[in-house]
Amino acid sequence: MTQSKAQQELLRELPQVEEVLNSHLLVELRATLPHEIMVDGARAAVDAWRQDILAAAIDFVDVDRIAEAALQAIRLIQTPSLRSAINATGVIVHTNLGRSVLAEEAVEAVTAVARNYSTLEYDVQTCDRGSRHAHCEKLICLLTGAEAAIAVNNNAAAVMMVLSEFASEHEAIVSRGELVEIGGSFRVPDIMELSRATMVEVGTTNKTHLADYENALTPDTAMLLKVHPSNYRMVGFTESVNIKDLRKLADEENRTRTQKSDPSVLVYEDQGSGALIRLDCFGSYAEPAVSESLQQGCDLVSFSGDKLLGGPQAGIIAGRKDLIARLKKNPLARALRLDKMTLAALEATLRLYFDKDEALRSIPTLHMLSMSTDEAQARATELAKYIEHEIVPEQATCTIEPEISRAGGGALPMCDIDTFVVSLRFKQGNALECERFLIQEWMVPIVARIKKESLLFDARTILRAEDYQEIAQALKAYFETGVQ
Ligand SMILES: *Cc1c(COP(=O)(O)O)cnc(C)c1O
Repeated sequence: MTQSKAQQELLRELPQVEEVLNSHLLVELRATLPHEIMVDGARAAVDAWRQDILAAAIDFVDVDRIAEAALQAIRLIQTPSLRSAINATGVIVHTNLGRSVLAEEAVEAVTAVARNYSTLEYDVQTCDRGSRHAHCEKLICLLTGAEAAIAVNNNAAAVMMVLSEFASEHEAIVSRGELVEIGGSFRVPDIMELSRATMVEVGTTNKTHLADYENALTPDTAMLLKVHPSNYRMVGFTESVNIKDLRKLADEENRTRTQKSDPSVLVYEDQGSGALIRLDCFGSYAEPAVSESLQQGCDLVSFSGDKLLGGPQAGIIAGRKDLIARLKKNPLARALRLDKMTLAALEATLRLYFDKDEALRSIPTLHMLSMSTDEAQARATELAKYIEHEIVPEQATCTIEPEISRAGGGALPMCDIDTFVVSLRFKQGNALECERFLIQEWMVPIVARIKKESLLFDARTILRAEDYQEIAQALKAYFETGVQ
């Protein structure tokens, strides 16, 4: 880009980093903060000003204002980046907001192993070295009916591991209707390629028949892969093949494979959100439970720990004992293994499932999913009270309105969860500005959503009564910024 003479002039006028640091605005901070942080902030402010000059967005240089920008940049470095937030969006498993919130029991378990030495790889029965895989395996088996199980870093890792152990250098058949992208760059064809499995696509986008799988079978087929379409649904003229039929097909094929060197055909389902209990509240939209897929004949099923399960980020693989044993020996199991805090959270979460009512009560994800509309309304009413206490009708008006919450996390996409929200209509300021203030200017970012110039707060996903107070205070602060 060619610079005009005036721009070159301005660029020469830009202060040195040291000059910015000497500004009266920064002297006090300089005495308390590490030099690197100060320099980084000052440099960012000077650079930003330079970019503005080059973009012809600015035609002067003001050292005080650059120092002010530096001050803000430094404050930003000092603020924890990963911190708690309030989810008022009504999306329960909100991937950008950390997916599942842990049950209190899980939080306590994490704290205990973080603060102390633990039995991570220590077997108290034999007083000798143990396996970290042992803590959750039995529980997963009891809850799903699987013979064996292993948990790794996340479900994407689980899929990768299963494909590379069993289908690497072989063929894996998958329906074109299930070649999905889950978001966050998880695409089935890419994972296939990474694991060096040869993907054999069958059927069409909307219809795949058993004969399609049958015709695609070759002596080199190692897997019939099913992928739960998670975040989308096809409706209308569609057909897919169920697990029972795939099981039969795999069994028939395996009977013809007599050489020991032939791979046997496995039926594996990537179930995505993987519910441990069927959520009756959603009727026919209920996600299939892991145990059902295993019963219907899957050799292996994998699913996430932090979607409908409501635990920490993890990927769980459950199924045949001989296959899980091979996975445990795969070098990827070491590379993708869970750390002690995650294991503690997962174990504690799984234990809650032995009492279904307890699970629905104490696992926040399940509680929010199964919360009645009445309770959502009562919560919205309560939140409105807090807000009306802090703001006046001349600033904004508060109404309680019926709305829809979402499960999120690629689960139950068709399922409208009836809820009630607090809807704020602005007399001063506006929804867009206020939304930005609540996220950027408030220490605990509050994420709401806008609909037709109103700001909506869905109380279903707001965890605690303290959060109502927090929201009310933040709104008060917004109007105190002098909005018109
Ligand atoms: C969410 C999902 C994944 C990825 O799981 P992570 O735990 O996020 O890694 C993979 N497959 C399906 C079908 C999913 O829904």
